[in-house]
Formats: sequence, C-alpha cells, structure tokens
Amino acid sequence: MKALLICEYREGKLLDASYELAAFADKLGAEKAMVLIGSEAEVPKVNGTVYLADAGKYGEYNPDVHKKIVLAAVERENPDYIVFVHSSYGWDLAPRVAATLKAAQISEIVNIVDGKFEVGICNSKLRRNVTPTTGKAVLTIQAGAFSVTDASQGVPQLERIDLADGASSLEFVGYEPAEKKDVDLTRAEVIVSAGRGVGKKENVPVIASLAKALGGELGASRPVVDAGWVEHSHQVGTTGQTVSPKLYVACGISGAIQHLAGMKKSDFIVAINKDKDAPIGEVADVLVVADVLQFVPALTGMLQK
Ligand SMILES: Cc1cc2nc3c(=O)[nH]c(=O)nc-3n(C[C@H](O)[C@H](O)[C@H](O)COP(=O)(O)OP(=O)(O)OC[C@H]3O[C@@H](n4cnc5c(N)ncnc54)[C@H](O)[C@@H]3O)c2cc1C
Repeated sequence: MKALLICEYREGKLLDASYELAAFADKLGAEKAMVLIGSEAEVPKVNGTVYLADAGKYGEYNPDVHKKIVLAAVERENPDYIVFVHSSYGWDLAPRVAATLKAAQISEIVNIVDGKFEVGICNSKLRRNVTPTTGKAVLTIQAGAFSVTDASQGVPQLERIDLADGASSLEFVGYEPAEKKDVDLTRAEVIVSAGRGVGKKENVPVIASLAKALGGELGASRPVVDAGWVEHSHQVGTTGQTVSPKLYVACGISGAIQHLAGMKKSDFIVAINKDKDAPIGEVADVLVVADVLQFVPALTGMLQK
C-alpha cells in the first residue's frame, strides 16, 4: 500500500503539519512518498521519495498548477492514497484532485480503526468509520490528530517535477495578514477558555475574571463563539487559533478533536468539567470534576486574596 503525501509550504517554510502526514502514513502501514511545492532547503527529512517542484516557478499556491504537479507525482508513483492536511490548502486542492482522478474523497480523518478511516459527523458529535470503494482515494487528515514522534529523522530521495505546461489563468498574488485582533492568543502565557458548559453569555465574565486573576487572556471553544458570547479572535482550535501557553485552563469544554488540535501543545493543562469521563481528561494534567460556576468563582476569589 502506498500513500502520496502533499506537504504544506507557506512563505518560504515547510509547515510542521507535513510531518503529521508522515505520521498518518506510518500508522496506516503505508509506504510513503511526498510532494513538496516549495524549495530544496525545506525538503522534509523523511525516508522515501520527495517530489520537489519549485514554488519560485509555480507559485506558493495556484490550484490549477498545484493540481497538475500532484497529478504528475500520482502518475509516477501510482499511490493508493493521496493525502492532504485538512487545512485551507487541502480543502481547496484535494477535491480538485479527487474529481480529476474520479477517486473517492474522505475528509477530516481523525483516526484509523481496523484499517478503516474514522471521521466526525454531526459537528463531530458522532464518529463513523469509512473505507473507499474506488481504486485510489484522496484523503484529508485533521491537523493534530496524528502525533509526530520521529520528525526530521529520515533521508529523502529527491525527484524533481517540471511541468511541460505550467500555464494557468490564475495568478498567485500573495498572503495578507488577517485583520488586527483585539487579542493575540498565540503570545499569551496563560489562557483560560470558556466552553459551552458555562451555560450562557452572562456567565462568560466568570471565566474572564479567572483569566484576569491569573494574568492571562480569555479563550473560547467554537460553540461559545458561534453563539455570539465571545468574539472569534478568542476561539481556540482548528478554525480558531493554535496556542501553546504555559498554562491552559479549559472551563466546561468537552475536548473535541478540533479544540484539542489548537491547545494540546500547552505546557500544563487544567480542565474543569462536571463529567469525569470528558475527553479533555485525556490531555489534561489536572482534571477538576466540578461545576465551573461554583469552582471558578471560588478559585478566582482565592487568587484575588
Ligand atoms: C470543521 C469543524 C471545525 C471546528 N473547529 C473548532 C474550533 O476551532 N474550536 C472548537 O472549540 N471547536 C471546533 N469545532 C467544534 C467541535 O467539534 C466541538 O463541537 C466543540 O469544540 C465543542 O465545544 P465545547 O467543548 O465547548 O462544547 P460541548 O462539546 O458541548 O461540551 C461542553 C462540556 O461542558 C461540560 N459541562 C456542562 N455543564 C458544565 C458545568 N456546569 N460545569 C462544568 N462542566 C460542564 C460538559 O460535561 C461537556 O464536557 C469544529 C467542528 C468542525 C466540524
């Protein structure tokens, strides 16, 4: 079984998520080859073939041209799986590749169970296991779901891809920084986040007070943001910010994979949840089984004293 892994490269750098693709292939037990549309200096250090196309020539992103490069590697490698990270790059490019190859696409894989791909449904409240029925399949994996254990260990064999026809009606213009936000969670040393367990908007200040007492910032899970209780700039997770503070306190947050992907690299994680079996317990250093609305004000009061 062979997997062709499509690296992520942005503003001259290989993104770490590329190594998560390798971790996924290892877990699947697949032989791996990679595609990097980037620069030779950034070729991932993995064993196996790396197909390199020059981003200087083909653009850091251009769906027309990048699709042609991926298809050229597919032709040479004949993989069973073509694997992307479930990122804005993967969302855009994977379906284009799947449609051209008439291959099944399985999106946002979070695990491999008995050779089947586990994906979330109903906003990830439920999981289902699927297998493709086409000869080849295009996959996207959830960032953060496949842990990298031995990054930068291998020796790649470089093969270059040069397109005979690299023409496109699209031109890559560049990246623009997102609008300036009222808070930059990526720099915070302490984050105290509110989850749906806080119950209602009026309770958010209870969590914000603890953040203030600890000299930190307020974070939030997605439902809290979607409900309009907190601004999106505070959201932690795959569609919010990826953070790695010294201390992360999760208040009434269940620990869905999309939230964990954004905070599990925090140095020390405290979770407060009334459910002792909440999945957040798997990444928490300390799980306090309590009602947030009782425990948090008491803790804040003690800290203020
Ligand atoms: C494509 C996609 C992208 C997503 N991106 C993100 C993202 O960036 N960030 C994100 O957070 N989510 C994201 N999600 C949503 C994610 O799947 C979960 O639905 C979400 O993280 C759940 O938020 P929550 O833990 O606050 O709520 P819930 O899952 O509802 O959990 C609430 C928790 O609070 C506990 N609780 C309830 N009452 C109390 C109380 N009084 N005291 C203590 N504990 C209590 C419950 O036991 C439960 O564990 C995304 C989903 C999809 C499909």
